[in-house]
Amino acid sequence: MQRNQIKQRLLVITILYFLIALSETNLPANQKLRCTNIFETKIKGYFNTMAKALLERKRMKEEQMLINKKVTDMIAIGKTFYDKNWLLGTSGNLSSLISRDPLRFIITASGMDKGTLIKDAFVEVIGENNGSYQVTKNTSKKPSGETLLHKVIYQYTDAETIIHIHSSEAVFVAELFANKGIFTFQGYEVQKGLGFKNICEECRIPILENKENLHELANEFISRWEPSQIAFLIKNHGLFVWGRSLSEAKRCTELLQHMFEYSILKKNSEVKDKYEF
Ligand SMILES: [Zn+2]
Repeated sequence: MQRNQIKQRLLVITILYFLIALSETNLPANQKLRCTNIFETKIKGYFNTMAKALLERKRMKEEQMLINKKVTDMIAIGKTFYDKNWLLGTSGNLSSLISRDPLRFIITASGMDKGTLIKDAFVEVIGENNGSYQVTKNTSKKPSGETLLHKVIYQYTDAETIIHIHSSEAVFVAELFANKGIFTFQGYEVQKGLGFKNICEECRIPILENKENLHELANEFISRWEPSQIAFLIKNHGLFVWGRSLSEAKRCTELLQHMFEYSILKKNSEVKDKYEF
């Protein structure tokens, strides 16, 4: 029997004992009624407090189970993408939303090898109104240096998960199309996997200038943000992708990476044709 059930049974026994004892006293009827009313009010208050505590405990337990599941899935994605050379040398980061109001999410800690992530490699942060964030739990680990970007992406989009990779193809494509400031494509079948209903619509991936100051980079993301956007590139840096689930963010990262590889092949063949002819 759980501790709470024991408490409840003891309480019921106490109430019965009190009512029996009260009925056997020689107190006038109006005083007995008054005592019963006071007791009833106190008991109701106690049960309400206990019910609220139980509901809160249940909510926290369910939330922790959800966090554990997300962490397990991010560990698996980290390993998969590390093996593809997209997260080498502790680069990149992954995060997943816990709640939007207040804004709370878990993110890989700074300096973690994404090929060997463990549960303790994640840090929980809460967004603050002043544009910053705080670590919610007592830990010696620091959240990823790019946590501020994750925060603004969660604020501006319906993202539930964000993946940031440093693949060489993403860096190269950002450089190839830097003059246009955007990488676009349309009419490709992969767009269905990216959430496009019609592949004739243009997929637009803005290319931001890399900045050491994360606040400036976050402001640039905000100024370039478009509602249909699913990702952005940072010149000389990498790619940020988000999704309404971990599997969606993973799928979009893979498909965009495919388009980067394809674009590089296409550019190479264009250059080859130009010089061989
Ligand atoms: Zn980065």
